[in-house]
Amino acid sequence: MFKIKKIDTVLIRRGKDKGKTGKVILCIPDKLAVVVEGMNMQIKHVRPKKEGEKGQKIPFPKPLPIAAVSVVCSQCKKPSRIGIKILEDGQKARQCKKCKAEFK
Ligand SMILES: [Zn+2]
Repeated sequence: MFKIKKIDTVLIRRGKDKGKTGKVILCIPDKLAVVVEGMNMQIKHVRPKKEGEKGQKIPFPKPLPIAAVSVVCSQCKKPSRIGIKILEDGQKARQCKKCKAEFK
């Protein structure tokens, strides 16, 4: 089970945005990566399609490996390790290892 979900707030632990927090806008479970809004920005250079046109520089957030981010618990507001808890009805919930709060 992928422990990070879209709209989670995460703390960046590595790279040029280390120490900042941002919102997850995309999860890429296949690559064990997430895209965080405004973080790890890269510039994509797009060549002009026609002669006389200018090339464009398009900024975009590059995916970060999940190992480089920590989920910030919505309850205790601290970057925490997230565990998976099996509930009585068999459903899985995520649990903050710091404050023990459960969330989906
Ligand atoms: Zn917590």
